Amino acid sequence: MLSTRRKFIFGSSGGLMALTLMNPIKLLAASPKWPEPPAPADASAGKGEKLPPLHAESEQNSGGNSVPLPPEKRVGFAIVGLGRLSLEELLPALSQCKMCKVTALVSGDPEKAKRVAKQYGVPESGLYSYKDFDRIKDNKDVQVIYIVLPNSMHKEFTLRSAKAGKHVLCEKPMAMNAKEAEEMIAACKAANVKLMIAYRQQYEPNNRWIQKLVREKTFGPVKLFEANNSQVQQGKSGGKQQWRHVKALAGGGALPDIGIYCLNGVRFLTGEEPYEVMALEHTTPKDPRFKEVEETIAWMMRFPSGLVALCASSYGGHQTKRYRFTAEQGWFGMEPAFAYRGLRNEVSYAMGAALEHKENPSLPERNQFALEMDHMADCVLNNKKPHSPGEEGWQDHRIMDAIYESARTGKPVKLERIDKLDAFRNSTIG
Ligand code: NAD
Repeated sequence: MLSTRRKFIFGSSGGLMALTLMNPIKLLAASPKWPEPPAPADASAGKGEKLPPLHAESEQNSGGNSVPLPPEKRVGFAIVGLGRLSLEELLPALSQCKMCKVTALVSGDPEKAKRVAKQYGVPESGLYSYKDFDRIKDNKDVQVIYIVLPNSMHKEFTLRSAKAGKHVLCEKPMAMNAKEAEEMIAACKAANVKLMIAYRQQYEPNNRWIQKLVREKTFGPVKLFEANNSQVQQGKSGGKQQWRHVKALAGGGALPDIGIYCLNGVRFLTGEEPYEVMALEHTTPKDPRFKEVEETIAWMMRFPSGLVALCASSYGGHQTKRYRFTAEQGWFGMEPAFAYRGLRNEVSYAMGAALEHKENPSLPERNQFALEMDHMADCVLNNKKPHSPGEEGWQDHRIMDAIYESARTGKPVKLERIDKLDAFRNSTIG
């Protein structure tokens, strides 16, 4: 029995199958924790074959520009909205960027804007309120507007940015629904400005390594994807609702805010698009946070290759951030996934004598926001289409609209069948 299993793993002659299974080990040979596998049945297997390098092109700096540009050559960004994400992640991440800098701030609170401007060296002439934002068209130091506002404001500020002739980097979810996303794409096209959606995980090296395992079929074709992105989403102090619990500001609850990472994750990792979804949701009755938006949502998707995805997201469950692919000859994924820091890959496969071998082959941490912003700057400097353009966000909205429809009707919902891989994104970063 054991020898049969070993034969299966390494192939009867220990040929190609063994080589394929050894790819992750060789890729991570630099890790002292990674043990050498036992010799395959045929010890000569795989010798002389060229394996992918550990630091593949996709894992280098976005833009491929390893030397930071001098300040005068960098692309100027205006950050719109000085909330948690801007203050705690984006502005600090700019210090790690090589191709962009902050040149303007847009806020509803002038005193806060002044304090932040002082800290990051933004001149007073680069400070705007939401009302007088349109003056930004005359600011030659601003090429990109980064929209970091509640979801309901993304469309308005994208349209105003396009009118001002500025390129747009917009936070996820792109909009409130697919229709709004379509209008944003059309406005940017008409104004001949670029539109990128800030899907930071698509620029992050560990996710891109997992993407390679899927696309190179290192463990055979993937059959199942499971993902869960949950966290307890509290209201504001004093029992007040925060915008994430207000439908008119957020568009929905857990799904567009955090569930979107599971959805966008399976799409960009595989390159496939779902053609059918089925969903259900539950909200704890009388919980004041969830009067308007869903607390918990779970959905299934079918993909053209036969892959089935099971995704879930909750605003009421303890922090859980993980995804996993089950392939023919192993499983792999990430836990924690989706987080800003501390991502950890997981790989498991049978290795000789029926042993299930598990490892955590993670690549060094990189700042996802810096990679994402530098990609936008690279697109502006070199006139390239962003890897995650507006169309990528629009497709997530089309699917989320279908997920909500299925949850509402209790029936599966069909989507346009798209067989082309990476139909909505540019395949190259850098
Ligand atoms: P936040 O509540 O911390 O900040 C929102 C900002 O918008 C604040 O400065 C607030 O003053 C301003 N604002 C303007 N009008 C408002 C209104 N009517 N109601 C509430 N706030 C108003 O939110 P955040 O966490 O910074 O999220 C902002 C955007 O960034 C959202 O679209 C969110 O989905 C996205 N986000 C993305 C990530 C990521 O990892 N990519 C992480 C967090 C948030």
